[in-house]
Amino acid sequence: MHKVSLYWFRNDLRLKDNVALTKAIKASEKVIPFYCLDEKFTGPSEYNSQKMGDFRLKFLLESLQDLELNLIQKNAGLIFRKGNTAAEIKQLIEKYNIEAIYFSDEIGQEEKAIAKSVKNLGLPCFSTESKTLCKEGDLPFSISNLPDVFSQFRNKTEKHWSVRAEIPVPDNIPSISVEKINWQEWMPTVAESEKASFRFVGGESEAWKRLQSYFWETKNIGIYKETRNQLMGSNFSSRFSPWLALGCISAVSIYNDLKKYEESYNANESTYWLLFELMWRDYFHFVHKKYGNQIFQLNGLKDQTFYHVPNEIWVEKWKNGETGIPFIDANMRELNQTGWMSNRGRQNVASFLCKDLKQDWRLGAAYFEEKLIDYDVSSNWGNWAYVAGVGNDPRESRWFNVIKQNYEYDRWARYVKHWIPELEKLPDNLAIEPWKAEIEYYILPIFLHERW
Ligand code: FAD
Repeated sequence: MHKVSLYWFRNDLRLKDNVALTKAIKASEKVIPFYCLDEKFTGPSEYNSQKMGDFRLKFLLESLQDLELNLIQKNAGLIFRKGNTAAEIKQLIEKYNIEAIYFSDEIGQEEKAIAKSVKNLGLPCFSTESKTLCKEGDLPFSISNLPDVFSQFRNKTEKHWSVRAEIPVPDNIPSISVEKINWQEWMPTVAESEKASFRFVGGESEAWKRLQSYFWETKNIGIYKETRNQLMGSNFSSRFSPWLALGCISAVSIYNDLKKYEESYNANESTYWLLFELMWRDYFHFVHKKYGNQIFQLNGLKDQTFYHVPNEIWVEKWKNGETGIPFIDANMRELNQTGWMSNRGRQNVASFLCKDLKQDWRLGAAYFEEKLIDYDVSSNWGNWAYVAGVGNDPRESRWFNVIKQNYEYDRWARYVKHWIPELEKLPDNLAIEPWKAEIEYYILPIFLHERW
């Protein structure tokens, strides 16, 4: 039994179903909860973007604020620092005579580097993996034999499906007394867009409110398969992603409630499809584990070179939603003004940057890293590599005809007109067509392809 342990929160900002925290409490007389906004996750990235934009920072700080309140209810508090995690922990070790450090595992290169410097401080460290639905050890193959095609992974995994039991919120967290944090000091000023169809607020409490609403109040989960490709409204998809990314809720908890929902209202294709998407999340996590830093390389998991012709102006236009292609610009403007974009939108803007504008896909991935409030290292870089044709897509030549997609998913131009005021007065069919003034610069490659 340790007299005093440090619980280092990472992307597991919750009390319910927190495996590593539960272990720390069981093994220690006192546990000191701690979070550090590490310098590796702030500042500029190597791709001309910021590592963390204000929308994500705000969502993170809201999540920490909620975590602190929940900890206080369990007789603990939270120590918050910004800077170098290992250096901050070193100071706490000396101040509070800490004997051991507990935390959840992360697999990103920066996260692993930080954990290494924490381990180098010399105290016993106990880390646990709990991010995914299916534990690595329960997979019917080793990570090195992970199939490179999702459907093979899903077929094999589903047959031997095993999801661990959900862990309850601890009754009490014996701790030391710490000062309450003044979150306003840290909170960035973010202009809320009036156009946003959903307002994300960080934290475990809000994650459960969203689950309650999506599963049990509106029961929209029951029609998820039919609605999930829509673009407007708050309930066409679960919107769980930002809370999952920061671990405000675990995939295991969502799975448990999904099973309860199926018991109450029957399983259908939609309830299965949500599980299917959570399996994609697991899959990208395991792909990242198998290939490590290769997922950040230009050629990704492939042997051939990714073809690109650098053009900074085009990339800037893409970022700002000024390409002249309404479907691309509307999605990018939604991202820039809210920190979120639908999956349909993400596939299209990513395909457009890589396959039509022929730009280095990592510029897009890094921009998403800055902007998305649900940024998750494995899901983001894995999906980008997939769309760029250097990841796990067995169809390497997949290409989205972004005009056709606009007609298919936004036939009446409601979405593009909503985000692009310049188009408001145009008839619907013209609003979907590329802006004439921009054609010569940007959409030549599209017209080289057969339209449909
Ligand atoms: P739902 O459709 O309700 O799905 C439920 C959950 O399943 C999601 O919350 C998510 O955790 C998981 N999920 C769904 N689709 C995928 C997928 N394709 N890959 C992995 N997990 C999935 N998702 C992130 O969480 N973080 C990212 O940084 C991220 N970057 C992406 C970048 C690109 C280029 C693309 C094409 C997709 C990316 N996604 C990412 C996946 C997906 O777009 C989002 O998870 C989804 O749109 C979030 O909305 P939702 O919670 O309503 O999803």
